[in-house]
Amino acid sequence: MHEARSRDAIIRIRDLSVQYERFRALEDVALDVYEGEFVCLLGPSGCGKTTLLNAIAGFVFPSAGTLSVNGKPVRAPGPDRGMVFQEYALFPWFTVEQNVQYGPRLRGVRGEDLRALSRHYLGLVRLSEFAGRYPNQLSGGMRQRVAIARALANHPAILLLDEPFGALDALTREALQDELVTIWEKERRTCVFVTHSLAEAVYLADRVVVMASAPGRIQAVLNNPLPRPRERASAPFFDLYRTIDGVLRTVLTHAEARPSTH
Ligand code: ADP
Ligand code: MG
Repeated sequence: MHEARSRDAIIRIRDLSVQYERFRALEDVALDVYEGEFVCLLGPSGCGKTTLLNAIAGFVFPSAGTLSVNGKPVRAPGPDRGMVFQEYALFPWFTVEQNVQYGPRLRGVRGEDLRALSRHYLGLVRLSEFAGRYPNQLSGGMRQRVAIARALANHPAILLLDEPFGALDALTREALQDELVTIWEKERRTCVFVTHSLAEAVYLADRVVVMASAPGRIQAVLNNPLPRPRERASAPFFDLYRTIDGVLRTVLTHAEARPSTH
């Protein structure tokens, strides 16, 4: 009984379609995401990854079907769902610390509680020394670490990340993937992470949701049983990479739509 309850889906999506005026961005999407799980949405550009993430976030709404979080239909954004975007969506006029404190401050946290909260999350992303800096004084990787700390400071049950490392160079990107896994292991939030990088999905995910376009839909959901920490250059990693690559190839109709393989 207890075990069955712990496997209740925190995100439950059924027959979901999303329409932008005449354009159908998602059709008949069904997906359960379980508490504490790390799920990657993988697919070519335009297949509806961002749309699906935004539907979970409450920024776009179903034209058909249902989408619920913790058993309640999603009708608006909420503090239970933290968002990290690809572009650096920090407030440039706030310091790093003020950026992290922004959400909690809106919820009425003040004084030492507020300082303790930002200390904790800046420590978690290893930016304690940079609390007083402004975003434009940081590297791209550091800004994304602030964005993660800022999202976590609201104590969301679910972290939604839309290609958060897409603009970073390859080495910084791998370092941030490592950090995100460490944070996820410590904080155990449910993560839904959008990427068009196959290697990133294999490195991060418990399950990889492969999406296809026209109309946007789920093509396959693959389990990733590789133990962590994962070895990017290992044979089992490459085997799974190849398996998912095979699925991706079936969904790609144009050569130029191939996702990057790094
Ligand atoms: P992805 O994140 O996988 O690249 P998106 O979810 O951003 O895909 O977009 C899915 C499809 O919906 C694309 O064809 C895109 O052009 C279209 N689209 C996205 N947002 C809008 C919008 N606000 N209005 C009209 N079409 C949109
Ligand atoms: Mg997108």
